[in-house]
Amino acid sequence: MTTSDIRVCADWRAHHDRPVYTLGDTCPACGGDAVQSSPARYNPEDPYGEYRRRAKRRAGRD
Ligand SMILES: [Zn+2]
Repeated sequence: MTTSDIRVCADWRAHHDRPVYTLGDTCPACGGDAVQSSPARYNPEDPYGEYRRRAKRRAGRD
């Protein structure tokens, strides 16, 4: 088990006073979605996704 396995309630700010951590897919407190607590999961994906969309759009236009 690594720290990257830890997830946090996606909407903890709306439902809880503090981040609710879990190892499962859902928040044990509110039953909502739990997301990876590490932003590293998202940071690499967004730029690449944007890059792919731009490249695809550009290629389609050409
Ligand atoms: Zn929650």
